[in-house]
Amino acid sequence: MAGNWKMCKTPSDTSAFFKEFNPLVADVKEREIVIFPPFVNLPAAIQSVNGSRIEIGGQNMYWARDGAFTGEISGPMLKAVGCRWVLVAHSERRQYFGETEETALQRIRAALETGLIPVVCVGEHLQDREAGKTHAVLEGQFQGGIAPLEPAQFAKIVIAYEPVWAIGTGRTATPQTAADSHRLIREMASIRYGRQAAADLRILYGGSVKPDNAKVLMAEEEIDGVLVGGASLDPQSFATIVKS
Ligand code: PEP
Repeated sequence: MAGNWKMCKTPSDTSAFFKEFNPLVADVKEREIVIFPPFVNLPAAIQSVNGSRIEIGGQNMYWARDGAFTGEISGPMLKAVGCRWVLVAHSERRQYFGETEETALQRIRAALETGLIPVVCVGEHLQDREAGKTHAVLEGQFQGGIAPLEPAQFAKIVIAYEPVWAIGTGRTATPQTAADSHRLIREMASIRYGRQAAADLRILYGGSVKPDNAKVLMAEEEIDGVLVGGASLDPQSFATIVKS
């Protein structure tokens, strides 16, 4: 159950969030909870979850370990402050910052080398879906950004299916639509890595997940978890989703 805060909250907002959120999920034992705050909030977040089961991740990373890359953050930096996870190729990164399948692949490899778990985002635009191209888009993203990984690397990643038309729009994919896309992704994984690896793969759904729709989405066998944007900013909302 993952929350992507995007470019929201300050360090003091972060501490206030966890002060309210931690007790709400203290009895949740059977799911992993991960929050992805903006970089400057990572120390406050990591301090706030100390002693709980909640984990923290970065929203992005560059693939070099260090060097002349002004404005970037590396995997070892995320690891050093206490992150265990990192988002890779979120659709907003693809849309506004020119990220591609090639750069996704470089980030995934670097994250794995650092010992971070990459949550790799894929998903089609509305015009793709309306043109019947959802399969082709997911296939392109899988083949370009994921399939070049070795089997041992693939076993360590998580995929988030996030249809771009559902992100931040209030327009959620129906559980059926989401499950169909998850099935497509799992089929591609099965062809490339085998049935067991595909069955073990965790696929999260993301796109306007809210407290009132999380339960029906999570009821789908194909949906292993959710990646939540807007509704993860509020402790009560996200706690309700986590418990769905
Ligand atoms: C996201 O940022 O990954 C996301 C799914 O956002 P939202 O839940 O706000 O649609």
